Amino acid sequence: MAIQLSSGGQRSTTLLLLLLLLLLLFSTSSAITELEQAQIDLFQQYLRINTAHPSPDYAAATSFLSSQGHSIGLRSQTFFFSPNKPLLLLSWPGSDPSLPSILLNSHIDSVPVEPSKWSHPPFAAHRDPHGRIFARGSQDDKCLAVQYLEALRALKASGFSPLRSIHVSFVPDEEIGGADGAARFAESDEFKELNVGFVLDEGQASPTDEFRVFYADRLPWSLIVKAVGSPGHGSRLYDGAALENLMECVEAIARFRDNQFDLVKEGLRASSEVISVNTIYMKAGIPSPTGFVMNMQPSEGEVGYDVRVPPTVDIGFLRTRLDEEWAPVTRNMTYELFPRGPKLRDNGGRPLATATDESNPWWSVFEKAVIASGGKLSKPEILASTTDARFMRQWGIPALGFSPMTNTPILLHEHNEHLKDTVFLKGIKVYEHIISALSSFPANSS
Ligand SMILES: [Zn+2]
Repeated sequence: MAIQLSSGGQRSTTLLLLLLLLLLLFSTSSAITELEQAQIDLFQQYLRINTAHPSPDYAAATSFLSSQGHSIGLRSQTFFFSPNKPLLLLSWPGSDPSLPSILLNSHIDSVPVEPSKWSHPPFAAHRDPHGRIFARGSQDDKCLAVQYLEALRALKASGFSPLRSIHVSFVPDEEIGGADGAARFAESDEFKELNVGFVLDEGQASPTDEFRVFYADRLPWSLIVKAVGSPGHGSRLYDGAALENLMECVEAIARFRDNQFDLVKEGLRASSEVISVNTIYMKAGIPSPTGFVMNMQPSEGEVGYDVRVPPTVDIGFLRTRLDEEWAPVTRNMTYELFPRGPKLRDNGGRPLATATDESNPWWSVFEKAVIASGGKLSKPEILASTTDARFMRQWGIPALGFSPMTNTPILLHEHNEHLKDTVFLKGIKVYEHIISALSSFPANSS
């Protein structure tokens, strides 16, 4: 009997807890409106289209996005700058289409996944009880596509009419370098016809309550150093052996790398503000059927580096170091140092960076709009990696990297990439402010 009483007591406690949990769940879900639920559904639908490399489903993604564009009343065009790689452009013409337009860019593709390492399937867009939506691309950068569209839908519904034309581009291949995507687009006549005055592209999540904004990308360069010399018996000590000279170069570059890294470790520079030099390959030795000929010093050797350079740096400084110390001709060395994509200067010879001061009128419009939306902006940064924005900056067009995700762990390219529903929804509101401000930006300003 006593036992029965106690288990009955336990049962009522359990019931009470269940009731409280239900109430809590009900109160959480009731905080999400019907419209917001529809916006989350749309985000999940886009995330369920597998656009991860190596075989992104571009056709399904562009058909989904263009049907959304239709439902909003946007003009839709699909370009094929490369076969099977559609680039979708949605447009809302401004009342004065002669003014430079604004372009909102996002990429359709995402990086591959290792499904076994995920706690939820990476293309199911599972939303857990905390509101976290798990999917590849949830942060990088499918959130932007749906946020742009939903902000435009809300602006349309409010009766807003833009002064400047608004274009939204959904581009392929960003994650594999953008050569067949944004690079082709930015060089095209179709792009020139848009007369783009300002671009918004992807940024990165912020673990704090301040939005991050990026005004430049660190740019990828390749450095290949080759050394030649007389071959010699493995037992001989002599000057000018190819690999001895190559090793001196490798050591000098390693010291330079350490010095740059120290600046980051000491907190004097952000990692995106220094030059990173990382060894990618080393090629030397005389092959034999069992490995390498071990009693011969080879007559040539080669080492390759991935170099990332902030556009604020003068690359001439690196060339001088190479010429004079690291790979001098006096030691039979040669090198190639070349950009993989846009150089550090735009087509007008200016650094490939967007001004974030009063010299750039778009900047203050953007900054004020973020503040008006109730947000805070952290100090503008250089992005350590690259985005499609660099192809637009090449034409001297101001472009900012911005993904409105505050209090969010940075999970791009990681297992269990996810984004909280409330953060996603807040982003739509932020874009409503930004897009209406930018597209209303009066003439004579830019
Ligand atoms: Zn991205």
